[in-house]
Amino acid sequence: MSRNAESTAFRSALEVIRAVEPRVADAIGAELTDQRESLKLIASENYASPATLLAMGNWFSDKYAEGTVGRRFYAGCQNVDTVEALAAEHARELFGAAHAYVQPHSGIDANLVAFWAVLADRVESPALKKAQVRQVNDLTEADWFALRRELGNQRMLGMSLDAGGHLTHGFRPNISGKMFDQRSYGTDPATGLIDYDRVAEAAREFKPLILVGGYSAYPRKVNFRILREIADSVGATFMVDMAHFAGLVAGKVFTGDFDPVPHAHIVTTTTHKSLRGPRGGMVLCQPELADQVDRGCPMVLGGPLPHVMAAKAVALAEARRPDFADYAQRIVDNSQALADGLLRRGAKLVTGGTDNHLVLIDVSGYGLTGRQAEQALLDSGIVTNRNSVPQDPNGAWYTSGIRIGTPALTTRGLGTAEMDQTAELIHTVLTQTTAGANADGTPSKAKYALDPALADKIARQATDLLAPFPLYPTVDLA
Ligand SMILES: *Cc1c(COP(=O)(O)O)cnc(C)c1O
Repeated sequence: MSRNAESTAFRSALEVIRAVEPRVADAIGAELTDQRESLKLIASENYASPATLLAMGNWFSDKYAEGTVGRRFYAGCQNVDTVEALAAEHARELFGAAHAYVQPHSGIDANLVAFWAVLADRVESPALKKAQVRQVNDLTEADWFALRRELGNQRMLGMSLDAGGHLTHGFRPNISGKMFDQRSYGTDPATGLIDYDRVAEAAREFKPLILVGGYSAYPRKVNFRILREIADSVGATFMVDMAHFAGLVAGKVFTGDFDPVPHAHIVTTTTHKSLRGPRGGMVLCQPELADQVDRGCPMVLGGPLPHVMAAKAVALAEARRPDFADYAQRIVDNSQALADGLLRRGAKLVTGGTDNHLVLIDVSGYGLTGRQAEQALLDSGIVTNRNSVPQDPNGAWYTSGIRIGTPALTTRGLGTAEMDQTAELIHTVLTQTTAGANADGTPSKAKYALDPALADKIARQATDLLAPFPLYPTVDLA
């Protein structure tokens, strides 16, 4: 696409917005500047294509489209049907899935759809059958009361938070933890890796309705074939949340045992992380769960966002092109180069390296908490996020880790040489930062000291590193 077309499109859009509320137009412009200037290592972020972004800014946003393709509760949904069917078709083809539901507004929403689809399939449907009624409204008060209790009394086994699991996999602060009786499996303290025998043992003891695989901070491949065997051995439904690594599945970096789609009964994902689409979610499933998944709205979701589904169709079409596989492989090459660069300089990494798009630095090796490290890096123009490490002594707020990921920088075009330089910048900041103390002399988990001149120097070096790789090179707002 020509520089002209994309520049004109975004410039014109800003002009139209500026005429109504100039501060919004300014903020949008400032966001592009900020994103262009920062070394973005946030493992869950990326840069969607101009076509994906533009597909969201239009009158599709005006449509209500409750229901599914061809079966809507509102009239006039023929064009929404077109984009929803396209997005679902691209998703099925891309991932080799039997069924795709592209309405979820986010990853959390996709998980809620999945949980309730499984509960409906495995708890509600049998109860209706037993009571010999077709739907919940036909149950007696007593049967309804009993069913509600049963729905609220199911078990989930998922990866522990500090091993890299996600809050939505049954943890108490999230609705999933209030819905399910949850237990979690961790990683081997010696290796940092998932110990499948321990998972099998936990499953045998706990007998979960749902076994959840997937993570947001585990730097290694997961063997989904083994997890499925474990699920089968205890009659659990196997669900995988591939929110973080969907791009690596789409790009065929994760295949065979490491591709969740052929092994799981149900797979959820976001569309905006390594997949590089619009902010949103998606559910893929086996045919048996399709009808229940399609009830996601209005079961747990508000009306679908047709403009976002349009953008999902565009992004998924992009991910089906051969160059996406190349992109996905470069994400991992870059992540491994970053890990190697850090290890060579003496950093301590959880599991000692990476197979995927992310690296987890244990910053206790630098005498810092995650929070101190995150802030010192931010002062130096390097955007990361703090994250727990297994058996983290500093808890979920201060943490002892820094999670870094390469999907975004890989989209910009940075390669392994730049990753080594990035490792140098990170290592320099972390070695030069010192932990602070509280007023009473005890060590502070938040205060730190870093020479501002050094932070400035690193920030300039980060900008120099990015200079040959302009973000959105076809977009000129000036
Ligand atoms: C990011 C993430 C989510 C949540 O996605 P949102 O779009 O923010 O709702 C859910 N699960 C996992 C594993 C994630 O990494």
